[in-house]
Amino acid sequence: MRYRKEKQNIHYCDYCLVEMRQGKFETLTDGRERCRNCAQTDINTEEQILELFEETLQNMEKIFNIHIDEEVKISIIDANTIAQKLKDDHEFVCAPTGDFGQGTVSIVDYDVECYVIYVDQGAPKNVMISCFIAGLTFIWQDKKWNGDDILSRYGELNLGAIYEGMSIWAEIQYMLLTNDKEYAKRLEWFVLDFTENDDICRLGYLEYKRQFPLSESIDTMQKTPFQKIPPLELPMENL
Ligand SMILES: [Zn+2]
Repeated sequence: MRYRKEKQNIHYCDYCLVEMRQGKFETLTDGRERCRNCAQTDINTEEQILELFEETLQNMEKIFNIHIDEEVKISIIDANTIAQKLKDDHEFVCAPTGDFGQGTVSIVDYDVECYVIYVDQGAPKNVMISCFIAGLTFIWQDKKWNGDDILSRYGELNLGAIYEGMSIWAEIQYMLLTNDKEYAKRLEWFVLDFTENDDICRLGYLEYKRQFPLSESIDTMQKTPFQKIPPLELPMENL
């Protein structure tokens, strides 16, 4: 995801993106800036992280009616190492520089024998949940989708949008159904108002939202991309 940076003189929380006034935030040792609200809900110990992961996994299985039975290891590393991994493995930089460092909270990878979700300690609860949803969605896609079919159906240029767009859709839909509507709105604002118009994550999310409207109640929720393989109908309006 690429972020617009025209508001250079404004400080945003690196985690929840709230606008912060001078003196109302703290600067972490790696340069990221964090609002007071995020500082109060930070998840620090290994036990807290594992508990939150387990809770997120169970909620996702219930909400999206799926079962993820892959072995997933949680590995705690620092944001700088995650930024380096993003650069090495994914050829893009999302460094914790005091600009938007949300992407450096977590990354999912396949190690020798199982999936690993690398996570940085100290992120606020809702951001860490979001990262777990993104990681688990990727693992689900990796197991359930046939990569060659997805590639030939949607084309190489759209691959990022197909994968990333669904994980953003899942994060926002999850937040709406677990009573964190404010964070759901912030996430959407972040994707729609803070990225370039042609950003692949933005376009992918818009297409998922068009084909799978978001719901604020589990009773009114209709089909989800987890129940449809391949997920998006052609032609797509946004891609
Ligand atoms: Zn914050």
